[in-house]
Amino acid sequence: MSELSSLSDYRLRISPRCKRVLIRINPLGEIEVVIPQGFDPHEVPAILQQRRRWLETHLEKLRARWAQAPHEHALRPSLIQLRALDSRWRVSYTPWSSRQMRLKEQADSLHLHYPQAREADADRLNSRRLQKWLNEQARKHLLPWLAQTAEELDLPYSSACIRAQKTRWGSCSAKRVINLNRNLLFLPAELVRYLFVHELSHTRHMNHSAAFWRQVEKAEPDYRRLDAALGRAAGYLPRWIHV
Ligand SMILES: [Zn+2]
Repeated sequence: MSELSSLSDYRLRISPRCKRVLIRINPLGEIEVVIPQGFDPHEVPAILQQRRRWLETHLEKLRARWAQAPHEHALRPSLIQLRALDSRWRVSYTPWSSRQMRLKEQADSLHLHYPQAREADADRLNSRRLQKWLNEQARKHLLPWLAQTAEELDLPYSSACIRAQKTRWGSCSAKRVINLNRNLLFLPAELVRYLFVHELSHTRHMNHSAAFWRQVEKAEPDYRRLDAALGRAAGYLPRWIHV
């Protein structure tokens, strides 16, 4: 396939801790190769050729997902859908002469102004500003929702905060501090509620024992289906949050 002229386009990293060559596709659709120290980087293109089928399959899946909702997955998205809140935002971008970024919220739309002088870097600047907005939305909506769920289930915690985590949707520490991933906003509400039930149940059981799952089941009888769906939920995340 012609698309895989991009096979020659990859990010290379040398890691002293790494024992063998690692190849992955990051959420932006870039190929990343990690090689052990002393490994000859000239061998990398041949290895990528060997893994060509695997790389093609994964890149195609990713591109098909983006193609289903091009406005949401664009690096400069014109639509943001926060499924957890059942809200949709139109987004517009205007270059201006100021050196500042500005985001204006108006009914159900967001207007971004970015420095004209930095057009080449504009996708990154805009997406960083949108990510900051996302953090604010998460604090504003997820924290009160968690508090309400805790009260409803009678499972108190000591404090909660919002994080921009890469691999976890949430966590609960031994001190009953709950971390929530701001990207939960992109997920359907039932998955967010399940994550709350899961972390709140850890305030009673700091493990995944049978007693823990009984506690979860009391609050959410459909937990098996929701737990499996949460495992696949990265598919809801738009591309621009990784910029
Ligand atoms: Zn857990």
